[in-house]
Amino acid sequence: MTNYQITLLPGDGIGPEILDVAVAVLNRVGEKLALQFEFKTALMGGAAIDATGVPLPDETLEICRNSDAVLLAAIGGYKWDTLPNSLRPERGLLGLRAGLGLFANLRPASILPQLIDASSLKREVVEGVDIMVVRELTGGIYFGQPRGIFETETGEKRGVNTMVYSESEVERIGRVAFEAARKRSGRLCSVDKSNVLEVSQLWRDRITQLSAEYPDVELSHLYVDNAAMQLLRAPKQFDTIVTGNLFGDILSDAAAMLTGSIGMLPSASLGVAGTPGVFEPVHGSAPDIAGQDKANPIAQVLSAAMMLRYGLNEPTAADCLEQAVQTVLDAGYRTGDIMSVGMKPVGCQAMGEALLAAL
Ligand code: NAD
Repeated sequence: MTNYQITLLPGDGIGPEILDVAVAVLNRVGEKLALQFEFKTALMGGAAIDATGVPLPDETLEICRNSDAVLLAAIGGYKWDTLPNSLRPERGLLGLRAGLGLFANLRPASILPQLIDASSLKREVVEGVDIMVVRELTGGIYFGQPRGIFETETGEKRGVNTMVYSESEVERIGRVAFEAARKRSGRLCSVDKSNVLEVSQLWRDRITQLSAEYPDVELSHLYVDNAAMQLLRAPKQFDTIVTGNLFGDILSDAAAMLTGSIGMLPSASLGVAGTPGVFEPVHGSAPDIAGQDKANPIAQVLSAAMMLRYGLNEPTAADCLEQAVQTVLDAGYRTGDIMSVGMKPVGCQAMGEALLAAL
């Protein structure tokens, strides 16, 4: 029996409800495939602020570092919105990424046939869309120095941020993307703004050099403005996309919305081999529906599937969870956020029970 240590970070709002469902399905798939998950729950976000005064206690980071993978739900809520920036729940996320060296963010956006009408685009445009956006997470303009708001000699204020990438940063995210493309259909599109930005020229050059090591992956390049247009015009042309922090932030949200349903979208954040990755839904803590058994747990369950596939290298177990999601959707079960006429409305718990039955 293979044994895995998993850190659970339920966080705030709907976090504990959806994470309970993910733990139940992981245990069930573990029974089926002789995998044993040992879960340790730790504090993060608003819950950590209430208990300890900070959004990411040292003890939490230590527990995460000592595990095989981290399954995070969501953090934040109205209660903590007025705290100074450095003490906001969201700071915990940045601290976790930095503390574990998570430089690669993987966000799949695939349209499920059962939910095609939830997309704001026409059926023929989105049918069959299956995209993976690989975003650099710890560099680029969000972290570059100098940054700040400075006063000039004339007393006018200037806001400054710096977009910077070193070759080694481009190379390591490039490798993650080429490997991901290899596991999928073998097509990778690198997105930059090299017609205007030198940092993007370096990015394009390094990615092109790297492609010599991955002859089985077909590489293309797009400028970010064109990539945004193409995502909405003809999204099926994309398989894997790799891009920097700022462009990835925007394009991954655009790609996500092709699928039309925030409660369905998982993500993975990975560091160097051997360090635990963090797997979490794309959505937030949904304080408006917290504690009402209305949350859709599927994004959390699909995040658990990504943990199995990319964090623990257990693709068969990942397939089981993804298949269970397909089965419950085929059977017509829908939480409020993905409800449509003629389907069976269920709450978070009942969706969890349907998933267990499907497994
Ligand atoms: P949100 O994603 O929490 O909610 C947006 C809307 O989507 C809400 O109407 C919510 O009810 C709905 N929704 C979200 N997830 C759902 C689910 N699983 N099932 C059904 N409906 C769902 O975004 P927001 O309202 O902008 O933010 C709420 C809080 O979450 C804020 O404090 C924000 O800072 C935080 N947040 C956290 C993360 C994170 O933990 N990674 C990400 C985004 C926002």
